[in-house]
Amino acid sequence: MSQPAVPSTLYEMVDICHRLADKGMVSATDGNISVRNREGTFYATRSSVHKGDITINDIVEVDHSGKLISGTGKPSTELKMHLFIYSKRPDVHAVVHAHPTFATAFAAAGQALEKPVFPEVLVMLGKVPLAPYGTPSTDELPESLRPFVQDHNAVLLANHGAVTYGQTLKQAFFAMEKLEHAAQITLYARMLGGERVLSGKQIKKLVAVSEESYGKHIPLHHIQQLLDITSHNDETQYTEKDVYEIVKRVVQQLEEK
Ligand SMILES: [Zn+2]
Repeated sequence: MSQPAVPSTLYEMVDICHRLADKGMVSATDGNISVRNREGTFYATRSSVHKGDITINDIVEVDHSGKLISGTGKPSTELKMHLFIYSKRPDVHAVVHAHPTFATAFAAAGQALEKPVFPEVLVMLGKVPLAPYGTPSTDELPESLRPFVQDHNAVLLANHGAVTYGQTLKQAFFAMEKLEHAAQITLYARMLGGERVLSGKQIKKLVAVSEESYGKHIPLHHIQQLLDITSHNDETQYTEKDVYEIVKRVVQQLEEK
């Protein structure tokens, strides 16, 4: 008798886990990833497995309450955090949690990455806030995300690591990669005297060209954050007409989806 076909999502999850391990973003059995299925269930990595060794047999399927539907082993200890994000963000279909060295160093030092330094980071991630410490595997961790989950796709977890999410698994992984890279460069820049932030004028220009340069799907909340940063960073404010034009463009994008 032929076996049912293995969903391609499982192979993609294995690939992303291997990349997390190869890049040193997790040590020992750290980290976990998940994907929302069309059927409303979730695939998640099981607990206690090294992400460099993971195979499709280490991925379990759970329902919205975390109950095991298929697969063997216990779901990841941080599944509650993943399910919390999915419950608050219907647009999110994948979550990546890791302990990358530089991002976690900022999280351990109690420092968010919110300064406007790198154009592509501003467009892709917006500001990266720091969620207060929550004991891993308990409800404290998802609760610590509550103030940030709606408006951010990347959050540092105090004394712990980072979590990123997006519409696809690749998007969530790229966000983690981008966050770690930005944290590393920021640390080096501070050793060289400190990072220089972009001016309000430069950020405005970035907003103006971002759609063309970085693709059509810049989340509305990132544009809002860019505008907020601009208003704190520069005396020149956006005119109502500017804001109207940007919001109109974003609404058009959403309608096209
Ligand atoms: Zn963790």
